[in-house]
Amino acid sequence: MTSRQRLTLLGATGSIGASTLDVLARHPQRFELVAVTGHSRVAPMAALCSAHRPRWAVMSLPEGAEALRVSLRGTPGADTEVLCGPAALEQVACLDEVDVVMAAIVGAAGLPSALAAARAGKRVLLANKEALVMAGRVFLEAARVGGGLLLPVDSEHNAIMQCLPPDFAGDLRAAGVRRLVLTASGGPLRQWPLESLATVTPAQACAHPNWVMGRKISVDSATMMNKGLEVIEASWLFGARAGEIDVVIHPQSVIHSMVEYLDGSVIAQMGNPDMRTPIAHALGFPERIESGVRPLDFLSLGALSFEQPDRVRFPCLRLAYEALASGGTAPAILNAANEVAVARFLDGELSFTGIASLIEKVLERLPAAPVAQLNDVLAADRAARDLALGLGGGA
Ligand code: NAD
Ligand code: MG
Repeated sequence: MTSRQRLTLLGATGSIGASTLDVLARHPQRFELVAVTGHSRVAPMAALCSAHRPRWAVMSLPEGAEALRVSLRGTPGADTEVLCGPAALEQVACLDEVDVVMAAIVGAAGLPSALAAARAGKRVLLANKEALVMAGRVFLEAARVGGGLLLPVDSEHNAIMQCLPPDFAGDLRAAGVRRLVLTASGGPLRQWPLESLATVTPAQACAHPNWVMGRKISVDSATMMNKGLEVIEASWLFGARAGEIDVVIHPQSVIHSMVEYLDGSVIAQMGNPDMRTPIAHALGFPERIESGVRPLDFLSLGALSFEQPDRVRFPCLRLAYEALASGGTAPAILNAANEVAVARFLDGELSFTGIASLIEKVLERLPAAPVAQLNDVLAADRAARDLALGLGGGA
C-alpha cells in the first residue's frame, strides 16, 4: 500500500465510533482520521479531538460547537476546525481529501451524510442501517452513480457478504443461493414471562446479554425491531425477496449469519460478538487486518442453539416483514414510527409493549406511497413522526 487512507468518522462518540477508533489505533500506518462528528456531548468530543487530532470536528448545535472550540483552545498543538449543523455533516462526508466514510450516526439523522458520501464515490462503511431501510433504492442508486464501494458493517450483513462468492454482483439466484439466514440473539427479554413485558423498564430493555451498544439499537434488539430493520437492509444489500430471508434466534451470538446454497451447503461466518470484527473487515477489505478481537475458543463455547422467533412476543418483526412486502415508503414510515416510539419509551412515556402498538397504528393510518426520489422518503418520515408523536401512550 502506498499512502494512508483518509477517513471521516460520522458518529465518532457512539458505540460503533469507539470500536472504530479502537481498530484505527492499531493501524496508524494505514489510516489517517481526517474528520469526526458528535451530537451534543462536548467532553467526549474534546477528548477524542485531543487524542486523534482530526482536521475537522462537527457538533450538531452552535452552542456545542462553541463549547468544543473553547475546550480545545487549552490543548497544545490542536488545530481542529469545529463546524456545526447537518450541512457540516454532509460537508465532512464529501471532503476531497477523504477516501473512506464510516457512517455510524444512529437513526434517520444519519441518512443525508451517508447518502452524500455514497454520491461522492467514497468507500462507505455502513453501520447506519436506518439509511438503507428508509431510502434503499435512492441510496443504492447514489452509490452506483458515485462509483465507490458500499460495505456493510452491521454484523449480520457483513457476515453474509463474507459468505457470498467474492464476485457476487447482486443476483442471489445467479450465485446459486437459496436463502439468507439472519441470526438474532433474541435480546434480553427472550425468556421473560409474556404478561410482564408491559412493565419492562428502559434499563431492563437495554441490558443486552451479548453486545454493548447505543440505547436506541439496544431497545430495537429487545423488541426485535432491530432484526426487522436488518431484514429490510438485507433485501436491499443483497437483492433478496422477503421469502428469501429467514430469521433464526441463536442466543450465543457466535454465528453472525449464514448463506444457504441450492446444493444444501450452508456457509456461516463466526466469531466472538465484537463489532471490531466487521469494522476491521470493512476497513481492510479486501485484505484482512488485526481487530483486537479475542480468538474464538471452541472448547469453551459449549453448545450453539437455535430457535424460531416467537411472533407473539416480537410483533415488530412481523411489522417489518409487512413493511418490506408493502414496499415504497412503508419501511420509512416503520422506521420513523419506531424511532419516535423508542424515544418515548426511553423517556418513560410509553410502555415497552406500547412500542409495537404505536408503530402498527402509524402504519395502519399512513398508506405506503411509491418512492421516486429522496423527498418522497423524507415526507413519509416527517408524516410518520408527527403522527407517532401525536398518538396517545395507549396507542
Ligand atoms: P450510539 O447511540 O452509541 O451513537 C450514535 C452516534 O450518533 C453518536 O456519535 C451520536 O453523537 C450521533 N448522533 C445521534 N443523534 C444525532 C443527530 N441527530 N445528529 C448527528 N449525530 C447524532 O449508537 P451506536 O450503537 O453506535 O449505533 C450507530 C449506528 O450503527 C446505528 O444505526 C445502529 O443501528 C448501527 N449499529 C450499531 C451496532 C452496535 O453494536 N452498536 C451494531 C450494528 C449496527
Ligand atoms: Mg446487526
